[in-house]
Amino acid sequence: MEEQSAVLLIFTGGTISMSEDPATGALRPVDFERLQVLLPELMQIGIRIKSIPFLPLIDSSDVHPVTWEKMALCIEENYDEYDGFVILHGTDTMAYSASALSFMLENLSKPVIFTGAQLPIGSMRSDGKENLLSSIEIAAAKENGHPIVPEVCIFFEDTLFRGNRTTKKNAEHFNAFNSYNYPPLAKAGVHIKYFRSFIHYPDPDSKLKLRLNTNPNIAVLKLFPGISERVIRSILDIDGLRAVVLESFGAGNAPRHQWLFDALKEAIDKDLIIVNRTQCSTGSVEMGRYETSLNLMSAGVISAYDITTEAIVTKLMYLLGEYETTMEVKKWLSVSIAGEMTIQND
Ligand code: ASP
Repeated sequence: MEEQSAVLLIFTGGTISMSEDPATGALRPVDFERLQVLLPELMQIGIRIKSIPFLPLIDSSDVHPVTWEKMALCIEENYDEYDGFVILHGTDTMAYSASALSFMLENLSKPVIFTGAQLPIGSMRSDGKENLLSSIEIAAAKENGHPIVPEVCIFFEDTLFRGNRTTKKNAEHFNAFNSYNYPPLAKAGVHIKYFRSFIHYPDPDSKLKLRLNTNPNIAVLKLFPGISERVIRSILDIDGLRAVVLESFGAGNAPRHQWLFDALKEAIDKDLIIVNRTQCSTGSVEMGRYETSLNLMSAGVISAYDITTEAIVTKLMYLLGEYETTMEVKKWLSVSIAGEMTIQND
């Protein structure tokens, strides 16, 4: 008889981890016992499930790199005992956490599925039930003894996305996430249909390696028509800042002011890393396509191709924490480490 699969649920908080107190009507965190009452299907699913709560459960707006470190360590400690992991997390910063873990869990060969809900798990119409049950099924899914999706993912509504390609797009509807620049990894209908050609399979001989060091000394600078030199320079001059994500227009374009070129060039010459990410959800930075990006290119700004803000922010934190020199960090910025970007070879 085939051995029963085992999945570890890691509760971090968010709406999914809440239910209404029957006495007061107020939202309160659910523990696993209460979850089993609210979701009796958990006992019938045929998967051995254990849960670990990170107490106190938090709203995901309070997530910090230390929370990511805790999640990564928890997965490492339980790695051999479970076939897959489901992380219950608030939706607000889920795409940041999934992106961060995709960099921190090097050579991951088991599923790590983030999920959450727009309505508390205890409420009548909660999307949390479907999200949780499908995520558990995906985390346990195997073919010929091997996990079908050995990646850090987000499952929401009916779709499985690569975590570091995902963005929260809706604060209200059940389809809260999208992956604009990479196709879904699976769709859940009557059956869960996996799109294997888009799933990354690791080298079976490589062992999980944790990369826990992060450095949060970065900034995101969003351009807008009329942005002043004073605003740009005050950000580039922040003491101790190591990198800036410059959110540009369209295919990576910026105003052609001489002062903008000078400010960027001076900062880069002083060792600041400046990465160009488009403000568009879909498509890629392509510096040199328009005249308005030539200045950025010649100042030494690096392309972030089609990466999400969530992925470039966490990738920079991870690279700056793990690598000593600016040269090394820049080298890895031009490489897709965990499938986070599509690099165009022109
Ligand atoms: N504010 C909540 C959180 O991100 C929203 C949610 O759970 O969806 O923790």
